[in-house]
Amino acid sequence: MPATGLVIVAIDQYPPALRAQARAELGFVFPVGVEAVVPGSAADRAGLRAGDGLLAINDQVVAFMPHAPAASSAVRDQVERQIIVLPSGAPITIAAARAGRSVTKTFEPSAACRARFEVVPTDKLIARSDGETIQLSSAYIERFGDDAVAVAFAHELAHLVLQHGLKANKQTEREADRLSLHLLVSADYDPAIAPHFWREHGASLGSRGHDSVNKRIKLLEAEIAAMNAR
Ligand SMILES: [Zn+2]
Repeated sequence: MPATGLVIVAIDQYPPALRAQARAELGFVFPVGVEAVVPGSAADRAGLRAGDGLLAINDQVVAFMPHAPAASSAVRDQVERQIIVLPSGAPITIAAARAGRSVTKTFEPSAACRARFEVVPTDKLIARSDGETIQLSSAYIERFGDDAVAVAFAHELAHLVLQHGLKANKQTEREADRLSLHLLVSADYDPAIAPHFWREHGASLGSRGHDSVNKRIKLLEAEIAAMNAR
């Protein structure tokens, strides 16, 4: 997909009681806007900024739907999909609203893996994906630290790469575990952090939907041995 570097947010992602405050914090009056711009990204170099309201993407108007009665990412997801379907090698033109004026920026996005990553602010331990978005919870990140974030992220990214969508069974979990090790190596991690994580935390986390923790560790270690042998 084309990676713009825009972190897009819709006011609807907040519950109605927080929307006025969200607008004030985010800095735009439109239903959808830019929450942040990845430094050095194509959008950043083109001059798009946090607080810009989103009006159109390649002449396609950003759909303004009636506000959702409860917190919902539907509008944000729809706008993201407007970008995802564009060819990754072609320029993108974004029309934005900034301080009551409209600004138009054209830039060449880079090609990226079709995945979105979100941190969910909650005390619950969450590491999941739905075919489009990978979510880890703040509790997971705080409790387990950087290596565990890499392990969980690689596993969920593997589900996306393998196009598992929402289907999860022991076989797809095994495939994701195996590919996760290769993704870790590609990102310069020692793949041994994966079996290490499960040895350390498997007993408390359990293995619902997966093989037993011990079997999982054995599969991970067998794959690492095979990788080393190659
Ligand atoms: Zn999984």
